[in-house]
Amino acid sequence: MFKKILIANRGEIALRVIRAAREMGIVSVAVHSTADSDAMHVRMADESVCIGPPSSQQSYLSIPSIIAACEITGAEAIHPGYGFLSENAGFVQIIEDHGLTFIGPTAAHIRIMGDKITAKDTMKELGVPCVPGSDGGVATLDEAKRIGDEIGYPVIIKATAGGGGKGMKVAQTAADMERAFMTARAEGKSNFGNDEVYIEKYLTTPRHIEIQVFGDGKGRAVHLGERDCSLQRRHQKVFEEAPGPSITEAERARIGKVCADAMANINYIGAGTIEFLYENGEFYFIEMNTRLQVEHPVTEGIFGVDLVREQIRVASGMDMSFTQEDLKINGHAIEVRINAEKLPNFSPCPGKITQYHAPGGLGVRMDSALYDGYSIPPYYDSLIGKLIVHGRDRPEALARLKRALGELIVDGVDTTIPLFHALLEEKDVLTGDYNIHWLEHWLENNLGDA
Ligand code: ADP
Repeated sequence: MFKKILIANRGEIALRVIRAAREMGIVSVAVHSTADSDAMHVRMADESVCIGPPSSQQSYLSIPSIIAACEITGAEAIHPGYGFLSENAGFVQIIEDHGLTFIGPTAAHIRIMGDKITAKDTMKELGVPCVPGSDGGVATLDEAKRIGDEIGYPVIIKATAGGGGKGMKVAQTAADMERAFMTARAEGKSNFGNDEVYIEKYLTTPRHIEIQVFGDGKGRAVHLGERDCSLQRRHQKVFEEAPGPSITEAERARIGKVCADAMANINYIGAGTIEFLYENGEFYFIEMNTRLQVEHPVTEGIFGVDLVREQIRVASGMDMSFTQEDLKINGHAIEVRINAEKLPNFSPCPGKITQYHAPGGLGVRMDSALYDGYSIPPYYDSLIGKLIVHGRDRPEALARLKRALGELIVDGVDTTIPLFHALLEEKDVLTGDYNIHWLEHWLENNLGDA
């Protein structure tokens, strides 16, 4: 097992990894920009290294600075968290070239899944059900129109290199195709340096269901059920739960096995998430994330396992600490994302936290890097905390969420907390009756968010 690891991230996810390391007796090294000298992850880690100025490009995304920090401190492995360099195959290659270990999948797997066309082809071959659409990339507008007519409108044009909701455009009708095709290509080019796009049938009322998988890199893999992340704004998740209110035990077992077998087949190592749209009882693969997800705690809640600990274990060459048979669902868990954003437009709202009080009690987990007097810098993501609750069943989890939200105090900046108070008054949320468009409609009708 490693003696010292470096965390190439900040905020709540850096704390998450530091906590797992500490429980395992591993020394943790934080890296930080000059804007984060006072950040909680720097205070909580055993050691810290300043790696550059505020801009992410020159700090959290600076590979040479991170490798240098490893060499200076003698860290043997790097945990990337999520975002930043977590799905950067080049980073993994450089880490290995320096004789260090990346706590995550291989560069080859990251590369395959990072290109959505290659990912889809690979999954199809592995027997995972996919959204009907073009066979690979679509190069011309004429071809796009032909495919649109073939699969039937509406369709969605997606940049193969896209992510974070960027590089995706819906064409409702054939007349809409030119605009959608050109915009998706332009967004792919400007955001990801790749203008290749592909086309999928646009599902009108699906739920977003994702399967958590975990492999040991030696041909063994398990699934840890699903998370329902249908409540989204602009393709960004805001509320996640496990198990999915619409998924039966038989469906879970079926799709879970398909995913676990696929991962075993490719010798996948570490944590991964296979994302599906789910409509009329069918699953349609959309993409795979080769990293820990923001919403992983809901899965940890219902299975009682520490996914970061498992990531570190398998990266060091050890086996997973559980088998598929050991994994039994216990109760229900819900996560809400607390962002420093001003409603109704969700504009970022950095600034000084004048008062912070985290909720507590049975079944409540608050993952946050906030503290009284902390100043949220304007340079990074607006996620400032995740409130996760666990109950014996969904109604108990919902009641606990309401109670915990009532205890949570974040003063000094605007946050998304009021949104969740309001959502917990909605019948559809209470009954779990929503799809990926539900929240956008609700925001339009209730907050005038366009
Ligand atoms: P990203 O990598 O940008 O997150 P995804 O492929 O994961 O993109 O899609 C993000 C979201 O976009 C999905 O959760 C869903 O809401 C919507 N979406 C993607 N593909 C389709 C589709 N074929 N039909 C309907 N909605 C889709």
